[in-house]
Amino acid sequence: MNNVPAENKSNYIPELFGSMVFNDKVMKERLPKETYKALKKTMELGKSLDRTIANVVANAMKDWAVEKGATHFTHWFQPMTGYTAEKHDSFITPETPTSVIMEFSGKELVKGEPDASSFPSGGLRATFEARGYTAWDPSAYAFIKDNTLCIPTVFCSYGGEALDKKTPLLRSMEVINKQALRILRLFGNTEATRVITTVGPEQEYFLIDKDYYAQREDLMLCGRTLFGERPPKGQELEDHYFGTIKPRIKAFMKDLDIELWKLGVFAKTEHNEVAPAQHELAPIFTNTNVATDQNQLTMEIIKKVAQKHDLVCLLHEKPFEGINGSGKHNNWSLSTNTGVNLLEPGDSPAENAQFLLFLSAVIKAVDEYQDLLRVSVASAGNDHRLGANEAPPAIVSMFLGDELSDVLKSIENDCEYNGKDKVEMKVGVHILPRFPKDTTDRNRTSPFAFTGNKFEFRMLGSGDSIAGPNIVLNTIVAEELAGFADKLEGAEDFNAVLHDIIKEVLKDHKRIIFNGNNYSQEWVEEAQRRGLLNLRTTADALPTFISQKNIDLFTKHKIFTKGEMISRYEILSELYQKKITIEALTMDEMARKEIIPAVLEYVDFLSKTAANKRSLSPDIPVSTEISTVKELSACVENMTSLVNQLEEDLQLAKKESDIQKLSQFFANTVLQHMEALRESADKAEHFMPKKYWPFPSYSELLYKI
Ligand code: ADP
Ligand code: MG
Repeated sequence: MNNVPAENKSNYIPELFGSMVFNDKVMKERLPKETYKALKKTMELGKSLDRTIANVVANAMKDWAVEKGATHFTHWFQPMTGYTAEKHDSFITPETPTSVIMEFSGKELVKGEPDASSFPSGGLRATFEARGYTAWDPSAYAFIKDNTLCIPTVFCSYGGEALDKKTPLLRSMEVINKQALRILRLFGNTEATRVITTVGPEQEYFLIDKDYYAQREDLMLCGRTLFGERPPKGQELEDHYFGTIKPRIKAFMKDLDIELWKLGVFAKTEHNEVAPAQHELAPIFTNTNVATDQNQLTMEIIKKVAQKHDLVCLLHEKPFEGINGSGKHNNWSLSTNTGVNLLEPGDSPAENAQFLLFLSAVIKAVDEYQDLLRVSVASAGNDHRLGANEAPPAIVSMFLGDELSDVLKSIENDCEYNGKDKVEMKVGVHILPRFPKDTTDRNRTSPFAFTGNKFEFRMLGSGDSIAGPNIVLNTIVAEELAGFADKLEGAEDFNAVLHDIIKEVLKDHKRIIFNGNNYSQEWVEEAQRRGLLNLRTTADALPTFISQKNIDLFTKHKIFTKGEMISRYEILSELYQKKITIEALTMDEMARKEIIPAVLEYVDFLSKTAANKRSLSPDIPVSTEISTVKELSACVENMTSLVNQLEEDLQLAKKESDIQKLSQFFANTVLQHMEALRESADKAEHFMPKKYWPFPSYSELLYKI
C-alpha cells in the first residue's frame, strides 16, 4: 500500500485542494489566536494592518511557504496590460558573511515598490516618479506558484491613483455592499452585515499542437491566425460540443484540475466546446475579488499545463476565421454574508418584492449604462466575435424569459398575470409564480441573460480580465440601488412607493428586455427602432467611457477619479491600436517573406512544367498549368499592392495624434486592408499544393491533436 501514488487514493482531492493556499484553515492553525483575530477583522473591514501583526503574519506565511518548497516571494498584481505581473525576491537574508537565513518581514508583506515605469499608466505616473507601489489585499489569500509565495496586491501610483484592475474592483464591491445593505434594512433585514457580489466565469479556450504553433508567426505574435483557408470540415456537424474528449486532452485536463485545485480554484466542469479543438472550463462561483484573481490564475495555469503536454493554449477571442471564437461568461449575482442569494425569487410576498426591486435595479442599470457594459468587453480581439453569429451582437440587451416578462408586464400595466393563476400582480402582496429553473435559460443568444438566480453576461472575450465588466456591473447596479433607497427611506407607504418604483422602471426601461434571437438581422433593426446602442467596434465604444454621464457615475461612487478614467481611456485606445499594428506588421512579414515567395516558386515550377511539356510535343495539354499560373499571379499582384498599402497605412497612422481618429482609422481602414490581403492569400492557398505552402493549414491546426 505504501507505493500507492497520492492521486490513486480516493480521498486525495480534499487533501490536495487549496494545499498551496495560505487560507483560513492554515491561518487558524499557524497564527497565534490574537493575531488571527486581528487579521480576520482587517479582512472583513478592509482596514490596514498593524505592523506588529503584519510581522507575525509574514513570518508564519514564510515558514509555511518554505516548508512547501518556496524560495521566493512576490507581490502579485494586475496592471492595465490585462495580464498579471510579479517581481520575485528571495527570502534569503545574510546571517553571517557565509550563511543565510530565510526571512520575510511584515513590511515586505504589506507594501512593495516595484519599478513600475514600464507598466501603462496613461500619464498618471510621471516619468520622474517612476515608482508605483503595491499593497497587500488581505481579502484575497496568498498562494504558492512555481516555488514562489504570491501575495495578491493592489498597484497604485505614489499619488494614490489606481494603476491596476483590482483597486477599482475592490472599490466597486464596497459601493454595492453599502447600497444593497440599505435596501435590505428597508426590508427589515438586520442580520446581514455584508453583501458580496458573486461570480462564476466560464472560460473558453483552444488547444493546438505545439509544433504547428511554432510554424506560424501569426499565432506566435498575435495569438490568432491572420491567414488560412477554411477547412472542408468546420463545426457544421456539431460533433465537437460535449463530444468525447481525446486521450491527450483528457490527460491535459486531469493535470489542469490538479494544478488548479492545489491553488484552491474550484474547477468544476470541463467539456469540449462548439468548435473543433475548443474547450471550456467552469469554476464554482465565489466572491468577485477571488473569482477575478482565480480567473487570471486559471488562464495562466491553462497555458502552462498545455505546454507540459506539448500543446499551446490560445486564449484569443477569434483564433480562426470562420470557426467560433472563445468567450467568457460572467455569471453574476449578489449574496448576503448570511448566504441569501438576492437574485433568487423567494417564497413570501416580501421576499419577492425584494427580489423584484433588485431585478429592477439591474434592468435600469443595464439600460442606462449599455455603453459602459459594451466598453467593458471592448477589445481588438473581441470585435471579431461580437455580432459574428456565434456570440451576442455588439448591442446590449437582456433576456428575462417569458414567465418573468409576463409577471413584469402585469405589474407595469396593472393587469392580470397570464399564468395559471389569474391575478393582478401587486408587489409586496403577491407571491411570484414558480419558474421552473430549466425554462429560464433557453436563450443562448442573449448578451445578458437572467438564468433563474443570477445574470449571465456573455459578451466577455476569452482573454480579458473579468475585473472590468464586474467593476461596471457593481457600480451601475449600486447606483440604481442608491436611487431606490433614497426614495424608499423616507416613504410613508413603503409598499406603494416600492410598487411605483418597479412600475416606473418597467415603463421607462423595458426596451432593454429582449427574449428573441439576438443573432438575427431583425433584432439589429428592432434594436435601432428601440434606440438601443450598437457600438460595433472598440473604436466606437471606447470614447463613451469618458462621457460626462459616466464620469459622473464613477466619480460619485469614488470608483475612479476623472484622471483615472481619462488615463484608462488612453491606455485602452493605445492597446487597441498597438494590437492591430502588430497584426498588420505580422501580415506584412508573412506575406512578403513566406507567402509571396512560396507562390512565386510554385508558379515558376508550373511555368517550367508547361514549357517542358510543350517542348516535348505541342499536343500535350497545359491548360491546368496556365490557368493556375494565371490565378496565382493575380493573387500575388493583389497581395503585393495590399502589403504596400498596409505599410502606407501604418506610416499615416504614425502622423495621427488624435486618439479617437486614430482608433477609427485602424477600425475602418487598416482592418479592411488586412482583410483584403487575407482574402488574396487564402485564395492562393486554395490553389497551392501542400508541400509548397509555408505553414500548417487550418485542418492541421484544428484536427491534428
Ligand atoms: P452554462 O454552461 O449552462 O451557462 P454552467 O453550469 O456551466 O452553466 O455555469 C454556470 C456558472 O455559474 C458556474 O460557474 C457557476 O458556479 C456559476 N454560478 C452559479 N450560481 C451563481 C451565483 N449565485 N453567482 C455567481 N455565479 C453563479
Ligand atoms: Mg454559460
